[in-house]
Amino acid sequence: MKLNELEIGQSGRILNVGGTGALRQHFLDMGLIPGILITPVKYAPLGDPIEYTINGYELTLRKDDAQEIEIEIADLMEREDERLDVDIDHPGYGESGIYHARQPEHNEPLQGKMTFALAGNQNSGKTTLFNQLTGSNQHVGNFPGVTVEQKTGTIKGHPDCEVIDLPGIYSLSPYSEEEMVSRKYILENKPTAIINIVDATNIERNLYLTMQLMELDIPMVLALNMMDELQDNHGAILVNKMEEILQIPVVPISAMKNEGVGELVDHAIHVARYQEKPVPRDFCDKNDHNGALHRCLHSIMHMIEDHCVEYEIPIRFAASKVVENDGHIIDSLHIHDKEMAAIDNIIEQMENERGLDRSAAIADMRYLFIERLCRQTVIKPRISKQRLRSEKIDDILTGRFTAIPVFVLVMLGIFYLTFNVIGAYFQGLLEELIGMLQVSAEGLLENTAVSDPVRSLIVDGIFNGVGSVLSFVPIIVILFFFLSLLEDSGYMTRIAFVMDKLLRKIGLSGRSIVPMLMGFGCSVPAIMATRTLPSRRDRYLTMMLIPFMSCSAKMPIYAFFTDLFFPKQAWLITVSLYFIGIITAVIVSLIAKKTIYKGEAVPFVMEMPNYRIPTPENVLRLMWEKAKDFLQRAFTVIFIGTVVIWILEHFDFRLNLVDDPGLSMLAIVADLITPIFKPLGFADWRISTALLSGFLAKESVVSTLSVLYGSTEALFNAHPAADVFALLVFCLLYTPCIAAVAAFKQEQGHGGAIKMVLFQCLTAWIVAFVIRKILLVLI
Ligand code: GDP
Ligand code: MG
Repeated sequence: MKLNELEIGQSGRILNVGGTGALRQHFLDMGLIPGILITPVKYAPLGDPIEYTINGYELTLRKDDAQEIEIEIADLMEREDERLDVDIDHPGYGESGIYHARQPEHNEPLQGKMTFALAGNQNSGKTTLFNQLTGSNQHVGNFPGVTVEQKTGTIKGHPDCEVIDLPGIYSLSPYSEEEMVSRKYILENKPTAIINIVDATNIERNLYLTMQLMELDIPMVLALNMMDELQDNHGAILVNKMEEILQIPVVPISAMKNEGVGELVDHAIHVARYQEKPVPRDFCDKNDHNGALHRCLHSIMHMIEDHCVEYEIPIRFAASKVVENDGHIIDSLHIHDKEMAAIDNIIEQMENERGLDRSAAIADMRYLFIERLCRQTVIKPRISKQRLRSEKIDDILTGRFTAIPVFVLVMLGIFYLTFNVIGAYFQGLLEELIGMLQVSAEGLLENTAVSDPVRSLIVDGIFNGVGSVLSFVPIIVILFFFLSLLEDSGYMTRIAFVMDKLLRKIGLSGRSIVPMLMGFGCSVPAIMATRTLPSRRDRYLTMMLIPFMSCSAKMPIYAFFTDLFFPKQAWLITVSLYFIGIITAVIVSLIAKKTIYKGEAVPFVMEMPNYRIPTPENVLRLMWEKAKDFLQRAFTVIFIGTVVIWILEHFDFRLNLVDDPGLSMLAIVADLITPIFKPLGFADWRISTALLSGFLAKESVVSTLSVLYGSTEALFNAHPAADVFALLVFCLLYTPCIAAVAAFKQEQGHGGAIKMVLFQCLTAWIVAFVIRKILLVLI
């Protein structure tokens, strides 16, 4: 039977893993291999995806993906884990291992700069450790895939030691783009040493990567992280024994509590200096299935030896990747066709003898080794307090009837607090402060001989422009405060789990929901938040949709026009605009899914971490980081943008200061583009000017228009209702503001940002046009 047919309460034993290519490899790497027990925990409230327990950890799978996995019902009794029920004294953090007591009898110590790569599974605590090592402010999150680019820092107290925080990986078979980043870095840049960080509470799955890293012929230390949590639950790891078996230094640490980190650094520097590489060793067992895989791997090693030397690829690593049918490695080895045919024959023979296909055989070999290692070295914790607590919380937060209401309440609460209470309060304060500064600057300038235009530039241009953008800082910081609570606590993973089915319909995965919702508040932090998404495709598609979520700065525009034209239907108009935004986003993503962003959202094989209480440092760190990010932008892109628009607004083409705004460059340019808006019904230079100034910040549409719209002539003649509505739709959908464009630029570069602006303006035009046509027919 298939895995998706398994009911809650039943357990299954995996017989066969279907699917093809990277996805199948990913399944295997995540521990879904023949012979393993798997138990469904719960269905998401919408019926898909499903949460499973496997190897003592929780992971989510979509139904479609689960259907690829064949199982047989397993006897529940088998599930009882044998565990030694003794509490032993733990060796303690950072105790020196025997392997390491050895004298550096070999190798001349390496001099000069050294680089250390931090490699480990997602959520194993890499970033936490990175921050402890460097004292740096990197974002830490309890959400798989937070680190999507590598970050570099210098180890405190060791100025010549650089450490790189790599994206989390489960295996060296790259599956997502971020995993590719990590593998490429390790293989090509060849760090002096690897610090492999392992979540000790989830050791089997984490060691899977360790075994592959050990084959890379790079000095390496193993950091057993989260030892605090393990010990808390009466688990232990026989560190010395593990060192003896693995033959690399193993250091128990708690990155969060900064315990054992000093020792870890000592060991890492030691192996790096003396280039103590892991001893070459067999993970394949000579006796397992008559040594089928063992013989296969060793034959291949002999056959590709010369290629490995020539192209500098570690031989054991290369051999296992060839068996796994890893295209990249096979290509870079430049194996001849004849050799390849021989290799394929060897592999086929192995598959027959072993009774498993090539990828599964390798995964099975690794897990078998890990199982034996753990049997000798790991005293499993009792079912952890954290797990039990998480299960209780999950009863409500992902419960069938409670999940969605709770989610809606949480999001509403966050928006209410951000925009109406805390954020608004600070925003008010800041506005007052900027206003005061502006007044005093004005006073100062009046007393000096500064000319009027310069004064106007400083006071009206810079203070108003940058000031109005700056007053967003509190909102952004508060929004990120809540976001980091969601993320750090582990709730975000649950949101993704709950919402996946809905988002999948438009080609995204559950993880995109939070950035999209933040878009209703402000596009800037929302675009910044897309960094949490695991694949570039999802990230770009989400970024493309965010501006269609009506952000809070558009409210004044709606208010201004509804007051003027439809005072009675203000509410209806506003709500319908929000919906038009959402519908546009859905249509756009459906089209994008078929054209530029082809393919499926990444499969939802996601680990569900336990809930954790966010640490204040992390939260503060994140808030500071975002504020800094935004401020940097405010003083570069936004500053320049402000000055440019001010100049356009106040000068004519002969660079004379103009009194009548109608003669300014902005108005002239606006007049040029006015015909574009004719089919939309608002071909008026004042409106186009206001729309242009709206690039600065959406509120300026209203302020500019109120300056220009002094006279009594009507702005709209023929069909006021349809025309005004078309204008509102256009305002809803066109480029949000220069700060959002700056955020785009940061994520996608200049070209991407320009394309995005054009795309948004075009979409806005088309939708406004269509809606106006419909309204003209209806009214
Ligand atoms: P990364 O994905 O590997 O970069 O992991 P992070 O550094 O973002 O950490 C994931 C989660 O584990 C965060 O909630 C951390 O607070 C938590 N964490 C990290 N190290 C420890 C530790 O030593 N003990 C405990 N109990 N939690 C930790
Ligand atoms: Mg990280």
